Amino acid sequence: MTEDVSPRIASELRDIVDAIESDASDETFASLPLPESMRAATVHKDEIGMFEGIPSEEKDPRKSVHIDEVPLPELGPNEALVAVMASAINFNTVWTSIFEPLPTFNFLERRGRASALAARHDLPYHIMGSDAAAVVLRVGPGVTKWKPGDRVVVHCNDVTLEGPEGHDDSMMDTGEGIWGFETNFGGLADVALVKANQLMPKPRHLTWEEAASMPLVSCTAYRMLVGANGARMKQGDVVLIWGATGGLGGFAVQYVRNGGGIPVGVVSSEKRVGLAKALGCERVVNRRDLPSVWDDAGTKQDTKAWVALGKAVRELTDGEDPDIVYEHPGRQTFGASVFVAKRGGTIVTCASTSGFMHEYDNRYLWMNLKRIIGSHFANYKEAWEANRLACKGMVHPIMSRSFPLEEVDEAAWQVHRNMAEGKIGIRVLAAEAGRGVTDAAMRERHYDAITLFQREA
Ligand code: NAP
Repeated sequence: MTEDVSPRIASELRDIVDAIESDASDETFASLPLPESMRAATVHKDEIGMFEGIPSEEKDPRKSVHIDEVPLPELGPNEALVAVMASAINFNTVWTSIFEPLPTFNFLERRGRASALAARHDLPYHIMGSDAAAVVLRVGPGVTKWKPGDRVVVHCNDVTLEGPEGHDDSMMDTGEGIWGFETNFGGLADVALVKANQLMPKPRHLTWEEAASMPLVSCTAYRMLVGANGARMKQGDVVLIWGATGGLGGFAVQYVRNGGGIPVGVVSSEKRVGLAKALGCERVVNRRDLPSVWDDAGTKQDTKAWVALGKAVRELTDGEDPDIVYEHPGRQTFGASVFVAKRGGTIVTCASTSGFMHEYDNRYLWMNLKRIIGSHFANYKEAWEANRLACKGMVHPIMSRSFPLEEVDEAAWQVHRNMAEGKIGIRVLAAEAGRGVTDAAMRERHYDAITLFQREA
């Protein structure tokens, strides 16, 4: 993938990085000249057909992701330009890079039609990335809460809030879109364009890449389990967590434990069984020990496999069924999830990694008064609360490794093929891993928990 980018970019951005690392004054940040162009991880509109006829799992981000030199985006009202020290791979970066379930250029074109300002997003390239730990460089007209020099993390909920729909819960905004997926100018670039109401304080005890690896999955898990809009877990609830050492699952384990629930993890290897236990999930099922749910053709489910999962869970819970099933694998697991949930229980879902056409036996849902809740990212308040817990050391990053921006394609490939545990961080302007900590004493107190996945995954 790696195209050479001009050394001029590095030298222009060097002053910005030096100012960040020397903790320069706010005035210095405000007066720093911005480069005209920057490095960015992109996919190209003229390549959206490149994987036609190839099975999903073989579509390779290493063929579609580019590191380009592109102009800095224009700053608009209520927005900020931020210097991205680190970002992270999310599964939406995988979807973008394999053009599934549809090319993200469709989102950018639709957004571009909304207004003259929004037209900035409709470009022949898409800068990906929905997480960032960054430093504010410039704020647009109307921004009062943030200023150049502020160290921040970015949550990915981009809203307009022009209509009434989003004013109880901004996820209901008709203009809502996920930054870096449904918008351009995401976090996998030297400089990102965000709405100012995406910014939150960076946890001071974390490195840039650790901080960047948290917001998208942590805030999503918070809404699904803790916030008022999800399954509203209570003390003692048994929560079945698919992918308990993955991005979403690793935060679900932490929220369930914090809230006095009983996490039961599902993972796919003995190594991950050990990792889930180290994270505090004492009850773990290795799904490789269970019969396969679907036949080889992927057309019919074996309901005996649902029963086997339910039995495995009961063996770990003194016979109790899950009050909540935390769903995201989708087609492969959804039938089993509906089956194993307790009478009156909740299946909360935010994704369909293995396929979005789900099949389940509705008798188990209605006769047993279960409910399914759809959930998607988090509103600003939920995101802020999740980040507050991170700042207080009450949830910790689950980053297992980090790559430089130039290797973002390899990182996306590893996430696509379920090769990585926890999260993969991407170092953008951070020259090396381990930078960005401004509260060493707090880091020391939580060191084992912060570095768990870096040591054991
Ligand atoms: P991840 O870090 O790759 O973790 C997913 C985990 O799911 C893996 O660790 C894997 O664990 C498990 N898994 C994968 N395929 C499975 C299958 N067929 N059956 C059972 N388990 C399977 O990904 P993530 O960041 O957690 O994201 C998961 C999904 O949620 C993605 O589709 C993503 O796009 C979506 N998502 C949605 C939102 C939202 O706001 N709507 C937010 C975040 C993520 P084992 O192999 O160990 O079982």
